[in-house]
Amino acid sequence: MGERRFNHILRCINCGRTFDPEEVLYTCSHCGDLLTVEYRELDLGDIDERWRGRPISVWRYREILPILDSTKPVTLSEGGTGLHACDRLGKLVGLKELYVKNEGENPTGSFKDRGMTVGVTKAVELGMRYVACASTGNTAASLSAYAARAGIRCIILIPAGKVALGKLVQSVAHGAKVIQIRGNFDQALKIVRELCSKEKIYLLNSVNPYRLEGQKTLAFELRDQLYPNPPENVVVPVGNAGNISAIWKGFCELKALGLIEETPRMLGVQAKGAAPIAHAVKEGLDEIEPVAKPETVATAIRIGAPVNWKKALRAVRDSGGTVEVVSDEEILEAQRLLARSEGIFVEPASASSIAGLKKFVASGIVKRDERTVCVTTGHGLKDPQVILDNFPSPTVVDATFESVREAIESSYMAILPA
Ligand SMILES: *Cc1c(COP(=O)(O)O)cnc(C)c1O
Ligand SMILES: [Zn+2]
Repeated sequence: MGERRFNHILRCINCGRTFDPEEVLYTCSHCGDLLTVEYRELDLGDIDERWRGRPISVWRYREILPILDSTKPVTLSEGGTGLHACDRLGKLVGLKELYVKNEGENPTGSFKDRGMTVGVTKAVELGMRYVACASTGNTAASLSAYAARAGIRCIILIPAGKVALGKLVQSVAHGAKVIQIRGNFDQALKIVRELCSKEKIYLLNSVNPYRLEGQKTLAFELRDQLYPNPPENVVVPVGNAGNISAIWKGFCELKALGLIEETPRMLGVQAKGAAPIAHAVKEGLDEIEPVAKPETVATAIRIGAPVNWKKALRAVRDSGGTVEVVSDEEILEAQRLLARSEGIFVEPASASSIAGLKKFVASGIVKRDERTVCVTTGHGLKDPQVILDNFPSPTVVDATFESVREAIESSYMAILPA
């Protein structure tokens, strides 16, 4: 394999040791901490020119993705999601320029696809025939689809009874081996990490640094979609904290490339029952204290021991950002608000960015004039049960004109013109 020249190395975020990307490695073999992808050179000439000739998508940016030129991407056309100017919602929360980057528009309905297109391409490049992950649902749905696309086998570990229906059926439909464990996500992750260290199975949780490389492209897209005015605040729901770390890495690389002058503040949002990172940020701690029994209606961020906590703390602090906590009631209210004021239907975890934004504005952390982007991470159809449980059921009436008319007139919305 001597002729394969990679454009990157892997570096430990703790001890700084570097590793050859030919190896299958997820964490530092010396100290056990996480690895990050570091490019050999970021002097890429007229890179912007080349990018402009390609559609907005993850692979538009392939010069700064850690994949060999000779490797064919495993792709379903991920990325290129809508950046929606939300004037009505902006007015409601008190902002002049608010955008929603709607990651629910990805092929399997969440931002995980950005990571999986790169991660599964890497698995194939490394010659792996099996991939696996632990998941609260979306990682599994995405990995199942990309494994099917690549023609390799997929093993999924999920907490029994705690995965939203829409996500579960995706993994089943794509033919993954779905194993429900009697335990939570953090336990599932521990098991799958052991499995992948003992067998020739490629691990695609967000400890895998290659997944985060795909996810960082959200930052590149924001720069291109808002050009020439980059965002000043980016609000991101935080679970395992891979995404906020990845997006920050993307902005740092843009700056190193001379493609933006200022980086935005990274503003994280966690759910009240699962907020170890918010706690560490608010208390000024250097480490997180894991939450043993995380609970929240936002199952995608129901995580007590976020693996990427160290990367995330750095992202938040280096960017001048912070992390806010929102209750389940605030999340559901934000989900309703976004769906009704802008026509964007997202799952509860995603709505936490809107709920968090309200608090950032109320506390003066986000100012009225600052160009702000909320990332909504997954599609509303992922979790139909939460809507059935928390919204009024549609009216049932007799099949006559009169009863339909009566139902409309008695509606609280009074939708018939006078
Ligand atoms: C995975 C996921 C998150 C959490 O992202 P992390 O990278 O784990 O912080 C948030 N929302 C949705 C919809 C997700 O699928
Ligand atoms: Zn190390």
